[in-house]
This record gives sequence, C-alpha cells and structure tokens, in this order.
Amino acid sequence: MEGVGIPKELIPSVCPYCAVGCGFYLEVEKGRATGLEYMPEHPTGEGGLCPKGNAVLEVLNHEERLRYPLKRNGDEWIRISWEEALDLVAKGLSKAVQEHGGRSLGFLASSRCNNEENYALQKMARLLGSPNVDNCARLCHSPTVVGLGGALGTGAMTNNIRDLENSRCILAIGTNLAEAHPVVSRWIHKAKDNGAKIIVVDPRITHTSWMADLHLRLKPGTDIDLLRGMMKAAIEEGSIDRSFIADRTNGFEDLKRSLEGFTVEKAAELTGLSAGEIIKAARLYSRSEASALLYSMGITQHICGTDNVRACTDLALICGQIGRPGAGIWPMRGQNNVQGTCDMGAMVEFYPGYKRASDPSSVDLFKTSWGAPSLPEGQGMTSTEMMDAALEGQIRAMYVIGEDPVICDPNTSKTQKALESLDFLVVQEIFLTATAKLADIVLPAAAWAEKDGSYTSMERRIQWIDKAVPAPEEAKEGLSIICEIARRLGHDLNYTSASEVLEEINQTVPAYRGATRSRISNPGGLPWPCPAEDHPGTEILHVGGFSTPDGRANLAVVENVPPAEVPSPEYPILLTTGRIVVHYNSGSMTRRSPSLMERDPELYVEVNPEDASSLKIADGSMVVVSTLRGGTRAKARLTNAVKPGMVFMPFHYHGANLITSDARDPVSKIPEYKAAACNIVPAE
Ligand code: SF4
Repeated sequence: MEGVGIPKELIPSVCPYCAVGCGFYLEVEKGRATGLEYMPEHPTGEGGLCPKGNAVLEVLNHEERLRYPLKRNGDEWIRISWEEALDLVAKGLSKAVQEHGGRSLGFLASSRCNNEENYALQKMARLLGSPNVDNCARLCHSPTVVGLGGALGTGAMTNNIRDLENSRCILAIGTNLAEAHPVVSRWIHKAKDNGAKIIVVDPRITHTSWMADLHLRLKPGTDIDLLRGMMKAAIEEGSIDRSFIADRTNGFEDLKRSLEGFTVEKAAELTGLSAGEIIKAARLYSRSEASALLYSMGITQHICGTDNVRACTDLALICGQIGRPGAGIWPMRGQNNVQGTCDMGAMVEFYPGYKRASDPSSVDLFKTSWGAPSLPEGQGMTSTEMMDAALEGQIRAMYVIGEDPVICDPNTSKTQKALESLDFLVVQEIFLTATAKLADIVLPAAAWAEKDGSYTSMERRIQWIDKAVPAPEEAKEGLSIICEIARRLGHDLNYTSASEVLEEINQTVPAYRGATRSRISNPGGLPWPCPAEDHPGTEILHVGGFSTPDGRANLAVVENVPPAEVPSPEYPILLTTGRIVVHYNSGSMTRRSPSLMERDPELYVEVNPEDASSLKIADGSMVVVSTLRGGTRAKARLTNAVKPGMVFMPFHYHGANLITSDARDPVSKIPEYKAAACNIVPAE
C-alpha cells in the first residue's frame, strides 16, 4: 500500500502572513506539506495560530501557483524557459540603464520574502546605480521607521510581545490588533487577568475595543489632539515623570511651551470626546506602574503619520513609560518580514542596518564592503513616488517582487496607468496577481516553506527556517533568480546559498552580527540587536539609554493636521479602511484560501443604520461608494460599529483602493488611506 511505513517529518516553520511571527511545524510526507502541528514552545505564539495561520496549506498547495516563467504576447501568456526569461529580464533592465541611466530603474522588494532575498535585491539595485529600492513599509509603517527612529534612535518595537503581560495599562491607539494581529490578543488578555486596564482609541467599535475598559471613539484624524490633551492633563496633574524627562530626554521645555495655550477642554472639542474621558485615559496611562502604547495604521496612514508617531512617543517619554518590562512602544507592523526588509536596507532612505543613504560615509562603507567602485548616494524614490515618476517617464523599468501595488497602492487607476506606461515590467510572484498581469515577464517564485532563509518579526525576532518542501514544477527560489539576473547584468553576487548571504549580513548589519544561522534556527530565534556571537539578543530596548547620538530621546512639538480630504456637500461621508481577521493585505493569498473566503468572500462597506436609512440602503444590498477618484461596488453592512457620517471598508479586495486617497505625509511619504471623502448610493 502506497505511503505505508513512510515517516512524516515535522519541519519548524514561521507563519507567512503577519509580523507577529508565530511558529508551527509543517508536516511533510513524500515531499509534500500535508498538515500543521502547533509549536507550544514558540515564545510568542505558544502554539496559537489565527485563522490565517491555520489555513496556510491551502495557499502553499494551491493549484493556481505559478509554475513556469511566462512572457506576455498581447493579451496571452506564453510559457518560456528560464534561460529565455532571465535573458529577457536582463535585456529589459539593461536597456533602461543604457538609455536612461541606473536611476531609471525601480525595485519593489518584498516584505513577504526573507532577509537574504531582500538584501540581495537592494544590493543588485544599488550596484546597477539605482537608489530606487523600496518596500511595502512605505504603505504601512514608514512613519514608524522615521518617526520612532528620530525620537528614540531605533524605529522598531521597543519590547517583545509577551512582555505585554507585564503591563498594568495598555493604550491601543489606531490598531484593531484583535483582527490584524490576533495572537497578540492573548498577551493582552493575560495582562487583563493580571489587573491591567485597557484603553482603546478607535472611532469604530472593533474586536479590540471589546477588550477595553475605556473605549475612546474619537473623530477620525484627531489623534494628535487627543495625545496633546492627555499630555496636558498629565502635566497639569503632575503625573509626568520629571526625573526621566530630565535624565533621558531633550526638548521638554519646548513641548511644554507648545501646550501652554492648549486645554483638555479644547482637546475634547476637537476629538468629540469628553474632557473627563481624556483625563481618565491620561491618569490610567501616566500613573500605572508600567504602561504599553500600541499603535498601527490608524496612526501611521495619515498625511501627519510621522507626527502622529511623534505624539505617541512624546506621551510615552514624558510619562517615563519606556525602557522597562511592560513599559514601551509597540508599533504593530504588517507583513511577516516587513521589519527585516527595512533592516536589510530595501528602503530608499537607508542602506543595510539603517545607514543613511544621504550620508557619504555610509555609502563609502558599502563601496568597500561590496567591492563596488560606485554606489548611488542620497535618497531614491519611494514606492509611491516611483509610480508618479513612471507616469512622467523618469522610471522606465521596474522589478517587482512579491508585492501587488495594483491592489495595495491608493488610487488604483493611477497605479495601473503608471505600470502600463513602463518600457519593461518584471514581476516575481507565487500567483498571477493583478500587478503580475501587467508584466512583460512573470517569474514563478518559491513560497516561504520552499526555501531557506530568515525572517524578522515585528518584535525584532530573527527566525531562520529551512526549506521544507520543493517549489512546484519550475518555480525557483528568489535568491537564485536575483543572482542569475545580477550575473547577466555584470554583477556576480557570488552567493550559492541563503546562509552565505546571512554571513554577509552578520558583517554589514551590526544589530545582526551575532544572529548566525545556528543561533536563529531554534523556535523563536533571537531578537536584535544581537551584536556578538555570545550576545543573548535584546528583549527590551532603551533600558539604560536611547540609541541616539547623545543617548537621550528627542521630544517633538507637533500639532494636528486635518485629513487632506474632509467631507463636502458632494462627498459628505468619511471613508476609512482597515484589516479584517480572515484576510491579509492585498488578499492575493487569503482570497485563494477556501476556508477563509467562506467567512468573508467579498468587499463590503460598514454603514451606520441612521445614514443607511436616509440614503435608502438596505442591509446586504449592493451600493456604489465614490470618491474623487471613482467608484467601487460593495455590499452594505448596517452596523453601529461606525458612527453616522463615517463608513469603513476592508482593503483586502480589489476595489477598495480604487477610491482611497493618495495624499501623502511629506516626511515618510505614506499615503492617507485612513481618510477620504465619499458618497454612497444604492447600486443600479
Ligand atoms: Fe500568522 Fe499573524 Fe495569525 Fe500568527 S497572528 S498565525 S503570524 S497571521
């Protein structure tokens, strides 16, 4: 009998969805992943997985996986050999370089791919003379990288996730973590069991707000007003930490002065909350023994996203709620390896290890390390700027790995036009995504379980996983594809394995120096900074000093900036977008997962029953939601989760970003997904 006597292997792995980085075992039989086993020894998930994690095999073994290189021929795809595909990619990229220079190339790295692939991609981009290499952090947490980095010296989560159980107050602002990062909820429940008070700041009623002792349903786009109100209350009541401010921060007098003409009552008027609620929140947060501040895209995806992050940081710093067990700032980041992709320098502001691209000494360092006579200096174009530049003819060719800007970027029609206007587009993917459908060449890539490499979760945890199963048919590991293309373009990256890339990362990224393959192969790996091979890794940052040049944190004076679009007679309703538990990002994976699709199969819009009644919209009926950029069809869900005058759409389906705003934060360049003025009518 076939299969009898063949042992099943259990191979440790890490979830390919969100940045919580839960571990599990893949059950492998005859070269095929056939099941999952939980990993109770994993320090973050402790064996827990959310619905997405539980359904990963539906995607890994999906019949629509890309299996062969494809070449566009009009509206058709032709299967071609790898040799031909790689030659055509090299030709397309080198033509742009020869005719328009290296800066005419744009690269989108992938926060779903491992550190080694992203390191190799940014290196190839820069060796080709292009500073334009970016990743999807631009769309979710670029304000964290620059805002938290500017304040504390490190733009990353300060404590680990399980440390939340030590918090006595948890302030979750602009994050629906119960849906977006479900496994984190277990640590919040543990904190609650230990007596912690939970404050949730969100205009909507969400699964996260159900956990709250205090739910502040502020007006969208008034986070800074609330945070300033809380700071004002804490200063007036004397519950700030004066010795922490004196010993460890810069800029308090300026911050205090900026609040002189401001009152809690003013904050209440601006936010739509009561002064009592703001004072209560300030007391709970500032007076607790250890307070955690968690935020996500409700804070970052605004035109004042960086200032929002700075205001969160100001509050934590003046209350001394940072650098201790249970006290710190937890940016809840999106994709499984978005932290690592930024660490690897696949971001226009930075070379690997956050060495500033605008600093000639950083560039010199990599010239020496990579043996490169010249490398681009200065900041390149961000992912969203590359789209503008493509429309203007400055970007001529793009290499997109594991990202789907057609679905993920705001203002879909513009993104689509931008990609269509390129001379050459190559997409390396596991499925034929909306973006891949616009490519000249599509390269089939191995998924996470089909290759070796490391991933860095949002708590800075670097985890290595070994290849568990082969990629389908001719799909190849991303690293070998990048190396083959680079070689054809005259740059032999000289890597024969992901381990070799990690060894180079150990040398060029100081925080990863001690994160050798053997040390990060255990369940849970190691959290960076891990500066030496005998260093245990760092669970809590900023314990004795901040990683700024003078060791002190920088407070900032910030004031609220209203959303770029406010409701008008023509577009009287505010549209906001966000995540839901069963889907992930562009949905290119989860929308192919039958068990997840069964739960939430289509785009919907949450509408308050009061608005629905005046707009003559019935629950479950189809509506058209329109903004200045066009309209999209969605199913109406009538719910008091949104207040009158506001609607909510999950962004995982094609359609949501057809209508979102592409106004950007001037500092981090993140688009303002969280606020667009819209109108709604019943669909014909
Ligand atoms: Fe995967 Fe995130 Fe769910 Fe954990 S919480 S199982 S990492 S999607």
